Amino acid sequence: MELLFASNNINKLEQVKLLLDHENVLLPKDIGIEGFDPIEDGNTLKENAYKKALELYKLTGKKVFSDDTGLFVKSLDGRPGLYSHRYAGNNASDKDNRDKLLSELEDEFDRQAYFLTVVCFIDENGKDYYFEGRLDGRIADKEYGTGGFGYDKIFYVDEFSKTLGQMDIEFKNTISHRAKAVEEFKKFLVNTYENLNN
Ligand code: IMP
Repeated sequence: MELLFASNNINKLEQVKLLLDHENVLLPKDIGIEGFDPIEDGNTLKENAYKKALELYKLTGKKVFSDDTGLFVKSLDGRPGLYSHRYAGNNASDKDNRDKLLSELEDEFDRQAYFLTVVCFIDENGKDYYFEGRLDGRIADKEYGTGGFGYDKIFYVDEFSKTLGQMDIEFKNTISHRAKAVEEFKKFLVNTYENLNN
C-alpha cells in the first residue's frame, strides 16, 4: 500500500517509515511534484495539517498524510504554539528561537510545556482522520546536550531527567510527540487496511 507524505523533509520521512514499519511512503518530489510548499496559515495544528494533506490529495487523489507540531508553554498562554518554527522571526534559526524563549522565561517559575503533534490522514475517498501525540516537559534554564533540533536542547523531560537534546536520537524517536501520533496512525492503518503490505 502506497502512502504519500505531504512534506519535503527527508529526515522526517525516514523516521515515519521506521515508526510505521512501512517502506512504501513517498514524498511529493518522489512522484514528480516539485516545489510542494503549502501555506500554513490555519488557526490550529489540525487546520495546518489538513491544509497540507488536502493540497497533496487534490493533486493525486491518493492516500496522503501530513504532520504539524507546536511547542506550547503554559505561562506564555501556549506560545510559541503554531509559530514554533518562526518564533523569533521569519528567518529565525533554531538557536534564535530557543534564545527568545529562554529570555522570555528568565524570571518565570512555572516552566511547564508540551509538544503536540497532529497527523492528518486523507483516504482515497477524501475523508480526513486525525491522530495526536503529546510529550509533557519543562523549559530548562539553559541549553543542555548537543543532539536534536528545534527546541530539543531546552526541553526537559522529568520522566527521563534529561532534555531531548541529551537523548540518543533513536531513544527520542520512541518517546516523542511525533512518535506517539504516528503510532496512533499506524494502529488505525492496521485496523482499517489489515495488511499494509498489499
Ligand atoms: P514541524 O511542524 O514538525 O515542522 O515543527 C514545527 C517546529 O516545532 C519546528 O521547526 C521546531 O522548531 C519545533 N519542533 C517540532 N518538533 C520538534 C522536536 O521534536 N524537537 C524540538 N523542536 C521541535
